[in-house]
Amino acid sequence: PVPVVAIVGRPNVGKSTLVNRILGRREAVVEDIPGVTRDRVSYAASWSGRRFTVVDTGGWEPDAKGLQQAVAAQAEFAMQSADAIVLVVDATVGATATEEAVARVLRRSKTPVVVAANKVDSERAEAEVATLWSLGLGEPHPVSAAHGRGAGDLLDVILDVL
Ligand code: GDP
Ligand code: MG
Repeated sequence: PVPVVAIVGRPNVGKSTLVNRILGRREAVVEDIPGVTRDRVSYAASWSGRRFTVVDTGGWEPDAKGLQQAVAAQAEFAMQSADAIVLVVDATVGATATEEAVARVLRRSKTPVVVAANKVDSERAEAEVATLWSLGLGEPHPVSAAHGRGAGDLLDVILDVL
């Protein structure tokens, strides 16, 4: 069976942009307004000749109310249904209470978790990335989903844990 990679994280961190970057085409809907529910969330992807399914859990995005619980529910779903989980964090914001809550859930995951520190559009922005070690989920990997910076390295890491 084709392995499943689930992309989790709070609204607006760039999950759908990262999915599009992984796909190499604009298929997942990128929204400047968070919280828009999408019905289609699974996409066929490949990297280095390996096929996998990428799931944009943003289809489940809630409104701001109950955000922490909803993102934790995304993570629970991903832990049960995916072979690898990518927690996307906006590195320009850092770890919020929501990321801390989701990290608490993911730290007891048997499914491997990769932390993607997104919106690292320039070398200067990399300074903030190391603070995400505090999530207790291992090395944070800088990426700019919008511009592609670091995307190949991130995909290599994801395939390594699959
Ligand atoms: P999602 O809600 O997590 O799926 O986030 P989206 O993919 O819809 O992106 C939310 C906003 O962040 C959009 O305005 C994107 O253009 C922007 N964005 C996503 N990735 C990046 C990035 O790498 N750099 C910058 N500067 N903006 C990004
Ligand atoms: Mg989205």
